[in-house]
Amino acid sequence: MRDAIVIGAGIAGMSAAWRLRFGDLLVLEASNRIGGRLRSERRGKYWLNWGGHVFGGPGSYVDGLLREVGVDALNLQGSFSALSFKGKTLNGGNVNLYPFKLPLSWSTRFEIARVGLKVMRAVKAYGKVNKPRPGEDYRVRQQRIYDFMADRTFSDFTGPLTPDADAFFRPTVSRSSGDPEEISAGAGVGYFLLVWDKSSGLARNIVGGAATLPQAIAHKLGDKVQLGAEVIKVIQHDDHVEVVYVQNGEEKTEKARYCVMTTPATITHKVTEGLDPIVHEALGQIKYGHYVSGAFLTNETGVQSWDNVYAYCTPQRSFNIAFNMSNLVRSMENGERAPGSSFMVFSPASLARKLIDLPDEEVLDIYRKDLEEVFPGFGKIVVEQQVQKFRNGLAYCFPGRNKLQPKLMRAPKRIYLAGDYLGSWYTETAIQTGLLAGEDINSKLYTDNLLPNNGFVY
Ligand SMILES: Cc1cc2nc3c(=O)[nH]c(=O)nc-3n(C[C@H](O)[C@H](O)[C@H](O)COP(=O)(O)OP(=O)(O)OC[C@H]3O[C@@H](n4cnc5c(N)ncnc54)[C@H](O)[C@@H]3O)c2cc1C
Repeated sequence: MRDAIVIGAGIAGMSAAWRLRFGDLLVLEASNRIGGRLRSERRGKYWLNWGGHVFGGPGSYVDGLLREVGVDALNLQGSFSALSFKGKTLNGGNVNLYPFKLPLSWSTRFEIARVGLKVMRAVKAYGKVNKPRPGEDYRVRQQRIYDFMADRTFSDFTGPLTPDADAFFRPTVSRSSGDPEEISAGAGVGYFLLVWDKSSGLARNIVGGAATLPQAIAHKLGDKVQLGAEVIKVIQHDDHVEVVYVQNGEEKTEKARYCVMTTPATITHKVTEGLDPIVHEALGQIKYGHYVSGAFLTNETGVQSWDNVYAYCTPQRSFNIAFNMSNLVRSMENGERAPGSSFMVFSPASLARKLIDLPDEEVLDIYRKDLEEVFPGFGKIVVEQQVQKFRNGLAYCFPGRNKLQPKLMRAPKRIYLAGDYLGSWYTETAIQTGLLAGEDINSKLYTDNLLPNNGFVY
């Protein structure tokens, strides 16, 4: 019998596996790729990116893991607040004045200012709720965040908006993968804190692309990681876990003392048997929105208007944000600008619902048309383009989600849960829950003298 089986080789799975690497470990991943929703591929000095891309700095779990594994991340230098709307591109200056620089009616400008003020007040309150308190357990802080304005949706909070005013708030909120009509007011407000306050938000890229981190861990784990291994059943017994999976068309069974499930909640709900029924029911209530993203490699030469910008908000288009993924490369250049750039665009929530069932070629045509309007001439410089569709894009926080949290946090027996759906910080939550699951399993294995005593090297 193995010590542990980790299911899923996204960043939660690779974090758990990293902690469990000294024992008899097996990682089973359904797809043929490491990283899950961290997907990037290198192209010379650039990288294409389709999923998670900006991460926390010193003090965060992601930073700690990057240091342990030996992967580099750097602060982005560019602006995060460019806006392309109504045929104009704004970048720089006070973002609160953007509505006054765009061709909008005065009534729309006042509407945006009124709602913006309301959101700003709520962001201040969220800031207090979000702040860690000395000595408190992370679960207590997480529950407090979920409880903040948890009884209504973001659109209940703002009230109905005219389309142009809506365009100022929707792209930020729907990055959660839920629309303002779906996500809780508190979670929507939280997104504005992330965007407005760089110090509490996400401002770093992993050098070489986000998938470098899970790939580096997988490399160190060697054949403990099995790809193309789709888990179809995980049964919790009193003294072990039984895992049934299909690889190369063949059904296989493995047994382990412990198992970490890092698949999306919907899949964990479907494949697990013998889990605490309260936990199992809560898993079935987690809601995901879709995400469609596109990556583009270009070959232009010379300085470009986007060189010092990281993010362009693009309301009322097929994608609601465009990222200059070559920004970090630009900031590392000393003198001459290399030819080319890398871009990512993404479409969450209702934007994704319109695209997810279309053929990739059609999605790319739609993206290219919009990109041409944001960056005239873009179509002529694209040398590579690729779409990625994530049906389980992100688990969004809906009104009432707070009530599921105590159920999901119930002490595990042999099947541990890890993954971003267990908290509010995406990759950070995925890494935190993965590492903590691995540490708890290790402590049980050590207590039972089941791991070699020369295991950890710190
Ligand atoms: C477009 C986009 C942009 C994002 N931007 C950011 C960002 O900037 N910053 C940030 O922090 N987060 C961001 N996120 C979120 C971030 O990518 C996720 O929070 C994180 O990658 C989730 O990791 P995970 O390990 O929990 O899940 P996943 O990455 O989904 O890993 C789960 C793994 O389980 C595998 N699996 C599924 N079913 C089975 C099965 N039956 N058997 C075996 N394996 C299975 C999957 O193939 C997958 O590899 C973004 C997400 C998207 C989609």
